[in-house]
Amino acid sequence: MDNAKGSYHMKKQSILWEMALALSTRLRLRRTSPFLWGLGFCLMCFFFIGLTSFNSGQQQCDCPRSHVLRAEEPRPDLPDAYDFNPSDKHKMAILIPFRDRFEELMEFVPHLHNFLKLQRKNHHIYVINQVDNLRFNRASLLNIGFKESMDSCDYIAMHDVDLLPMNSALIYKYPADGPYHVAAPHLHPRYHYPTFIGGILLVNREHFRQVDGLSNKYWGWGLEDDEFYARLKEAKLTVHRPGNLTTGTKDTFKHIHDRRVRRRDMIKCYNQQEVTRRRDRQTGLSTIRYHIQSRKEMTIEGAPLTILNVILECDRNVTPWCDCTENVGNTKTQRKPENKEDVIVPKLDRKKHISHDG
Ligand code: UDP
Ligand code: MN
Repeated sequence: MDNAKGSYHMKKQSILWEMALALSTRLRLRRTSPFLWGLGFCLMCFFFIGLTSFNSGQQQCDCPRSHVLRAEEPRPDLPDAYDFNPSDKHKMAILIPFRDRFEELMEFVPHLHNFLKLQRKNHHIYVINQVDNLRFNRASLLNIGFKESMDSCDYIAMHDVDLLPMNSALIYKYPADGPYHVAAPHLHPRYHYPTFIGGILLVNREHFRQVDGLSNKYWGWGLEDDEFYARLKEAKLTVHRPGNLTTGTKDTFKHIHDRRVRRRDMIKCYNQQEVTRRRDRQTGLSTIRYHIQSRKEMTIEGAPLTILNVILECDRNVTPWCDCTENVGNTKTQRKPENKEDVIVPKLDRKKHISHDG
């Protein structure tokens, strides 16, 4: 049996030898070279087989794509909870002060998410929903949004839920040199006075901390953004705005605000008017008091967001107007601010600076 096996191998070797010999004779080579030729031939075969299997493996592989993105590559196929641009080290927290604006939120979240996706801006949307029974306090909600988002983000967009950017040239970039006012007076549908900084304002983490955020004294509608302007001015931070846009006040933003349905809370009580018309040096990011009732992660049409249900605290000795069920009407102004820089009421010509929108 062993003999038979051995003679079979010998036979096989001699056939290979004969083949190599014949080839070398044909090619007129010396008798010793068939070994070298056989070896070369085998190496080439191995190389060829290896190459084809490597190639076909690459074509057939259905493995997940690399998570490393090239900066120039647009990726509309990305999952929605993704950081759109890993090569950009910045991440923006979109802070939406919120209460009872469900329809607007349903339109706003997918719109802004897709708008920023096209710009490949890393971001996350936070809805800071005021669930207590006090009057709405936009500024305090923004302070809370900042505190709750700054572990993962390094700049904020203070964003009204009813203001939708429509021009893709509005870039939500990291505001390195000072706050960036996206909803600039020459673009906002309703407010056009030069010191206006409401609607949409981008501020980086350091600058927001530097000015101690916004005042917590503004319960009800208005002036909290003008007081914030006074803080920025005092800190010598320059507000930047978009320039060279082809759109204007009518077509840069969509303001989804029906003023008959969404009434602005303009009631004044106690000495609210007197206090809120001047710069606040007592309250801000460092003094905000609140409680997070719950936190919900969800998506609207694939756009991810975090809802923070918050309960604000009000010190009625300091701001009794957080609840205007009593003492409605203005208490007469007792004293004027000594420093004219402390007057924060914007000087606006109502006819010229306020349009009929919203
Ligand atoms: N807001 C809210 N619920 C309210 C009042 C205000 O959610 O009851 C939020 C919402 O994000 C809104 C922003 O605060 O876009 C500014 O308020 P509003 O739109 O009334 O002010 P406007 O800029 O139109 O005068
Ligand atoms: Mn509005």
